Amino acid sequence: MRMDKDICKVMFNEVELQGVCKRLGEQITKDYEGKDLLIVGILNGAIVFVTDLMRQIDRQINIDFMSVSSYGNGTTSSGNIHVAKDLNSDIAGRNVLIVEDILDTGNTLHQLTNMLKERNPASLKVCVLLDKPARREQEIYADYVGYTIPDAFVVGYGLDYAEEYRNLPYIGVLSPSVYSHE
Ligand code: 5GP
Repeated sequence: MRMDKDICKVMFNEVELQGVCKRLGEQITKDYEGKDLLIVGILNGAIVFVTDLMRQIDRQINIDFMSVSSYGNGTTSSGNIHVAKDLNSDIAGRNVLIVEDILDTGNTLHQLTNMLKERNPASLKVCVLLDKPARREQEIYADYVGYTIPDAFVVGYGLDYAEEYRNLPYIGVLSPSVYSHE
């Protein structure tokens, strides 16, 4: 059972999500002409997005993953990140593109980009599927944005609540009743 019953509104369906991956993939293909590209997928939330996106990039790429969690309550991150799995690759001199599910307060990506910059990549850019600017706490901008969304807690297409809902093939707004007892 996939728990579709807990979704109060579908925000982006499967066709829209494929379309946005195609648009971003074409842009990235153009921008990295003649350059090597190392994609860094951020686990677990970006798993579905990164696998769809990479197939729309018509370049020779490498891929690596990091698992990062930010301490906070169930629906909000904090300023502290914990690296549960680091990269296997040395990124010095490489063109690195971080692929993340959602930019919300910006705390996670702010810390992560600072951490990776210290490893001296040739370039460091950020691609997010979703941008929720209403809750930003850090001045950080993504170079590639799939959709800008209003302030709602969304799940599906890799995004979770309490490690569930990641396998929904669409992105939906989670009914507030699911987390209101937090
Ligand atoms: P930030 O550090 O920018 O506040 O949040 C980044 C992380 O918080 C994301 O990678 C994601 O894991 C989580 N997050 C923020 N907003 C949402 C949301 O609407 N839904 C889900 N499932 N996770 C979110």
